[in-house]
Amino acid sequence: MDDPSPAPGIRSLWALGPGLVVVALSVELVAVVVVAAGVLALPPGGGPVLLALGLAAMGVVHTELATGIERIRRRGSANSYFDLSSVWTFAAALLLPPGLAAAVVVVVYAHLWHRVWAPAGIPLYRHLYTTATVLLAARAAHDVVSWAGGLPADPARPDVVVAVGLAVSSYVVVNTVLIGAAIALTGPRVAPRDLLGRWDDNALEVATLCMGALAAVALASTPGLVVLVLPPILVLHRAVLVRQLEQDASTDAKTGLLNVTAWRAEALRAVRRAHRAGCGAGVLILDLDHFKVVNDTHGHLAGDDVLSAVAAELRAGVREHDLVGRFGGEEFVVLLPDLPRGGAGHVELWRVAERLRHRVARLDVGVATAGGVQTVTGLSVSVGGATVPTDGTTLDQVLRAADDSLYAAKGAGRNLVRIATDGHVPAPRRPTA
Ligand code: GH3
Ligand code: MG
Ligand code: MG
Repeated sequence: MDDPSPAPGIRSLWALGPGLVVVALSVELVAVVVVAAGVLALPPGGGPVLLALGLAAMGVVHTELATGIERIRRRGSANSYFDLSSVWTFAAALLLPPGLAAAVVVVVYAHLWHRVWAPAGIPLYRHLYTTATVLLAARAAHDVVSWAGGLPADPARPDVVVAVGLAVSSYVVVNTVLIGAAIALTGPRVAPRDLLGRWDDNALEVATLCMGALAAVALASTPGLVVLVLPPILVLHRAVLVRQLEQDASTDAKTGLLNVTAWRAEALRAVRRAHRAGCGAGVLILDLDHFKVVNDTHGHLAGDDVLSAVAAELRAGVREHDLVGRFGGEEFVVLLPDLPRGGAGHVELWRVAERLRHRVARLDVGVATAGGVQTVTGLSVSVGGATVPTDGTTLDQVLRAADDSLYAAKGAGRNLVRIATDGHVPAPRRPTA
């Protein structure tokens, strides 16, 4: 029987909320209008159609050569919006009238969808939105370069170099603002780094656009030389993949927090730094109370959504440089560097633990269940803490003291904070039956 519900891409967009739907459809509508205006303004005969076909062909060949790498990238990191196809779309923006440049973007992105995005299970709405942002960014870049006389450059106008620089900037700004707006609407608390992208992602995008500018210059003078762009761009692909795999290997897939191996490695470094600097550090272990009940009531998938919401809440409740990790199951761990030594550090650790406990207690999580969307409330977390160097000088000693404190919090009734004091862990150690 046919599924009468909307296509998965549309359905998942709707699930992200009406704000995002409105922004996505508005950006796509503006892109359609801008493209239509560009097509209507094409010169009689259509302009340099052969050049457009050549650029689209290069984009397709590039995707085919990089298909394996790109599929792994798309599967791996949910937050990668960076696309190396911009080398061709940017060259098209610099060289072609807007109507033809838009045609190149559409061909390259339709082919990308067919070969990379769809097989990697990326929702259609995301691909359409990305295509719209690229269309608008390409138009902005084209207008900037046209203002300086366009390519091929008039040797009498050195300002074309400035114009290409400005075109790169406008492409990046338009793309970043539109993608950032969509990300901002996907959740209530999005870190600035997620909105603007990591600096090395942006550096890679600028590097790709520089290659696009050089490809445009080659095409305008000695078109055959454009094939020289392919080897460096394929090497760039590999560099992006390696960086992404490194990041994925240190991330807990369910919550986006550091996984236990990465957390341990970074926490060990932080404890060593604390010793060298003569300051303290604090460790908190947090365990959701009666989490089994959430699974038993709403199902394990809903339980996963709750874990992810709690993780986001913990991340939002501490400073950027505090280390938040998933210890395993429904247990989380936080390391706070730069804590004062002694009593002051103890008090500060307590304050942070109480803040996190309250944040979890206030959490309402909407979860999809067989019976429709339901809200999980009444969550609570027990927290155990310990400090360096008071409760131990090594990470393992402090973790053990924090774990004992956690059991004391569980044993004292749950939804409580217990912090070890001068190496003394508050009793009782194990929860009573
Ligand atoms: P307590 O207050 O004593 O901590 O009770 P609890 O139910 O939280 O603890 P218990 O150790 O009995 O159960 C932990 C539960 O966490 C059981 C397990 O199914 C669930 N859990 C562990 N990892 C995951 C996960 O990745 N996803 C989901 N949905 N549940 C998980
Ligand atoms: Mg547990
Ligand atoms: Mg638990």
